[in-house]
Amino acid sequence: MAAFAAPRGTRDLLSPGIARWQEMESAARRVFGAACFQEIRTPVFESTELFERGVGDATDIVGKEMYTFESRSGKRLTLRPENTAGVARAFLEHGMRGRLPMPHKLWYAGPMFRYERPQKGRQRQFHQLGVEILDTASPMADAEAVLVACEFLREVGLSDLVVEVNSLGDGEDRVRYREALVEFLRSVADRLDEDSVGRIETNPLRVLDSKNRETRKALEGAPSILDFLGEDSAEHFAAVKEQLDALGIAYRVVPTLVRGLDYYSRTTFEIQAEGLGAQSTVCGGGRYDGLVEALGGPPVSAVGWALGLERLAMVLDAAKGEPSPEGPTAFLVAIGDEARSDTHLLARDLRRKGVRAEVSFSGAGIGRQMKAADRRGSRFVVLIGGEEATRHAVAVKELETGEQREVPLSELADSLGPEGGGQ
Ligand code: ATP
Ligand code: MG
Repeated sequence: MAAFAAPRGTRDLLSPGIARWQEMESAARRVFGAACFQEIRTPVFESTELFERGVGDATDIVGKEMYTFESRSGKRLTLRPENTAGVARAFLEHGMRGRLPMPHKLWYAGPMFRYERPQKGRQRQFHQLGVEILDTASPMADAEAVLVACEFLREVGLSDLVVEVNSLGDGEDRVRYREALVEFLRSVADRLDEDSVGRIETNPLRVLDSKNRETRKALEGAPSILDFLGEDSAEHFAAVKEQLDALGIAYRVVPTLVRGLDYYSRTTFEIQAEGLGAQSTVCGGGRYDGLVEALGGPPVSAVGWALGLERLAMVLDAAKGEPSPEGPTAFLVAIGDEARSDTHLLARDLRRKGVRAEVSFSGAGIGRQMKAADRRGSRFVVLIGGEEATRHAVAVKELETGEQREVPLSELADSLGPEGGGQ
């Protein structure tokens, strides 16, 4: 029995599955790079107050999901449950608005921590990829946020996406809507789950987000936020939808799509993918014009989203199959002990040219080395120190076909490379 196990709700990412993560990360780098987003890496822990103010006391995240601890000097710190607050903190701390051309577009990826009940697509340490577009109120920025999410998902190979959008209006719209909603919720309170009843007064919008079946049914007659939008918000929402149309992004307007966070305003959106069961939301985001101010800064309009990489990995594994282990392209076998150090040297040269090359460390006989090459799933075996050596050549054997040929050393890398079929 192993002495230790990874903590509940956490996972080791191992080969071959890790290839999917590398694929998602490199796609992110390509897509966001091309769209002129800068990467940002903020600390994994921040002061607890940042999340209390930046995410909101009335949210599940702050209310019951944070990993909070006291440092040795008595400071309250929290493992980040999300990264928008950290990015907004960095935006202020580094005076980005004064130093850099605005709007400023950022992307990030990294682990987040929430104390939740672990289940499929729900962990305690999970990973988010996200973007933030800071200091712009333009509806085109909302569309840009949705666009890069779709482009990223397309780049990793997903096209069956459902984009849902909504508008939460401005502060004033929301106050009026909240009143109507609370009144409605009180009238159906006996049909709501216990958590939702508790939220009627504290965070009524969040009730719309309930996953409870009975509650969802009871909500069918709820007032729609879209009937409460003021002129500016309605215009903004219309412009966002127009821009999505212009970009050819299909979407569905879902008036119950809310974010339980106070600093969200106007646009909200989610992207759903097939095959995730109850946890079907891969990506969620929206406009958060009130956040930077809530953190003590000036008013800074912004829009962003976060995407769950575990959930995306699950969707991709289901769609494309799980990654298979990647063996060496060439396993270098020494014929006789004198050739052992040559295998290492030649491996170094091949590696410098981008060929995946492996050697045996053991000094075993040819048979054992061949077996090792096979076990590792190497495509080719390169035999070094045979009679070919006198002609500055090696024997190359393709393991699947058993075909063997002599290759001059000077041509080895190329013969194993893309043209030789080895890469
Ligand atoms: P949910 O309603 O599923 O709890 P959320 O509203 O809490 O999601 P956000 O805070 O918007 O989620 O985070 C954005 C994305 O991060 C989610 O859509 C999801 O893909 C992912 N995510 C959130 N919490 C977890 C978790 N505990 N484990 C894995 N992924 C998560
Ligand atoms: Mg959640």
